[in-house]
Amino acid sequence: MGEIGIRFYPSNWLYNAGVIGFLKVLERCGENAEALLNNDGSMIIRHFPELSQIFDNWDELTLEKLSSAKKKVSYKNKKGGTQKYYYANQTEKSISERIQKLINKDCKDKKTMMKGNISFMCSFCGGKISNIKISKLSTLSQGFSNVLLTAEKTFPNSYWNNRADVFICPKCEFILLCHHIPLIRVTKEREIFINAPSFKIMWYLNKFAEKVLSKSKQYELRKILALSLMEFAQKVSMTLGAWSMMNIDMIVKQGTKIDYFSLPYELSCILLQKEIANLISETNEPFILENILKGNFSYLLNLLHRIMRYSVTGSNALDDEYLSVLKNRDSFSLKRLSKILPELYVKINSAVNKEVTI
Ligand SMILES: [Zn+2]
Repeated sequence: MGEIGIRFYPSNWLYNAGVIGFLKVLERCGENAEALLNNDGSMIIRHFPELSQIFDNWDELTLEKLSSAKKKVSYKNKKGGTQKYYYANQTEKSISERIQKLINKDCKDKKTMMKGNISFMCSFCGGKISNIKISKLSTLSQGFSNVLLTAEKTFPNSYWNNRADVFICPKCEFILLCHHIPLIRVTKEREIFINAPSFKIMWYLNKFAEKVLSKSKQYELRKILALSLMEFAQKVSMTLGAWSMMNIDMIVKQGTKIDYFSLPYELSCILLQKEIANLISETNEPFILENILKGNFSYLLNLLHRIMRYSVTGSNALDDEYLSVLKNRDSFSLKRLSKILPELYVKINSAVNKEVTI
């Protein structure tokens, strides 16, 4: 077991996905992944599993993630023949070397520069790369043969600068080889990753998004994100600051294109409030969330008004344009809903007004 501790801070999405992917590898190695996540958004690893264990579990996850019915993607015992793999031209040896650089304390960033050597900054973790010959530096377009070449072609808009002067320090090389692991497949072409300025938030939101998608692949992106935020509010005891809420976005990878999707700040604030998330879930009516996502909060009051009228006049709920879209229209469900709606409306209203006054 290595004894060196490495602290990771959130950076650009590709690196963040790599760290979350590596965390999944550690979890599969039997580590308590959630215990490594800090409330300040960082992650610290003090003990690494053995190299071979990391490789085997990474390879298993890669096999599950990248294989298709026609092609099995495994690097185990591969000495070549991986030209067409996602991480092309990698071998068990080359990947193991990158793991070694991550877990070996000798590769820890040195704060002092050797005389005569030039120091570079890693474009991913911001760490200083020193004591290294320029010819040995890994850059986006050379040295690090694949994920970065892939990145250059596949993610042209993922960096502020994708020139060859984007350097990768030794400990980030394997991290970047893990970025494919947490991507969640929505359709045959489309994969998503929820990015945030905190590994803890990313860990849970992506886990919840995966759960949401396991129930239905038909959800729109905004609904996947909304339901993940609600689940987070309900299950994770962590208060999110305005900065975090403003910077949660969904990375949508479709073929060679990368898009970003986010919810308006006001909506994120609403959905991340535990009481509001609980009340929306309790309604058990998808149409209510849809209207909230449209910012149509007055719908809640109109709906309440219609339910009251229905209960007084006994008119047919199916005939009413408001009530007919509900999933549960029996009088017991409507009565239950009429109790939730006023509280939900008041809480949303006060959350929205609070944000406005700030
Ligand atoms: Zn780095």
